Amino acid sequence: MSTAVALAFQPVLDQIAADIAARPGRGRPADYIPALAEADTSRFGMAVAEPDGTVYGVGDWRQPFSTQSITKAFTLALTLSLEGEALWEHVGREPSGNPFNSLVQLEYENGIPRNPFINAGALVVTDRLHALTGDASGTLRAFLRAESGNADLDFDHAVAASEAAHGDRNAALAYFMASYGNIGTPVPELLEQYFRQCSLEASCADLALAAGFLARHGIRADGSSLLTRSEAKQVNAVMLTCGTYDAAGDFAYRVGLPGKSGVGGGIIAVVPGRCTLCVWSPGLDQRGNSVAGVAALDRFTTLTGLSVF
Ligand code: GLU
Repeated sequence: MSTAVALAFQPVLDQIAADIAARPGRGRPADYIPALAEADTSRFGMAVAEPDGTVYGVGDWRQPFSTQSITKAFTLALTLSLEGEALWEHVGREPSGNPFNSLVQLEYENGIPRNPFINAGALVVTDRLHALTGDASGTLRAFLRAESGNADLDFDHAVAASEAAHGDRNAALAYFMASYGNIGTPVPELLEQYFRQCSLEASCADLALAAGFLARHGIRADGSSLLTRSEAKQVNAVMLTCGTYDAAGDFAYRVGLPGKSGVGGGIIAVVPGRCTLCVWSPGLDQRGNSVAGVAALDRFTTLTGLSVF
């Protein structure tokens, strides 16, 4: 990882951090996973990575946090790279309009989840990746380590265990889809893979760098190709329309970038061809997005004029 001295992005990040520090109200940490409930909502970090791997940051940008659903963007990309279009026989790509862990749509849509970023869809993607690689979470960890340059990036087994202990709803989703033949891995094994995936700890710097292939139109940090240009566009498009729970419309309105959030309080975002961002602050709004994180990305696109629109 190369760390550059301040160029154009550094003053923008400093400005955003000052603006965020002056804002009252940070939301509340996720409490349905006990291991996340104690997070300190005053924490805030943000990083921007340029396509060449130059990275800028402010605040807690090197502090590892629980990536949670941010990993869904990476497992989608990895699975698409291995399986191509056939993936879409198992999962749709329309916004759901329902909470991320909802069961209701699944029955009348015959066990095919609406998109890869609600939990049901992510379970299907992890199932496909596990079938294709034999170790979905290990494949994901290896990819994130390679792209971020951080060989220490790892699972947090306490968070995975905490989630498993409170994972009845994810288990229900997985068994229900298995009943439609849309899950091939034995459900207990799939859940173990999924909870381990969600428990990955990474910093804003790690994730901004790891998402770089989405700004480089599918090209990995080492110059090899993960996705075709068209597939990279597809992942960005699904992030824009489905990546921030059932607030994707509001996120597009305020921020105007493909993004993927997680209940650990992180959000990644992509300016195709220009840069990738990651922001973290654990206080969430009612839809599950980081309050300070969305505000910071909103400020970023306003201050820089960078957006896909
Ligand atoms: N591991 C979490 C769950 O499955 C992920 C939630 C999220 O970040 O959206 O409930």
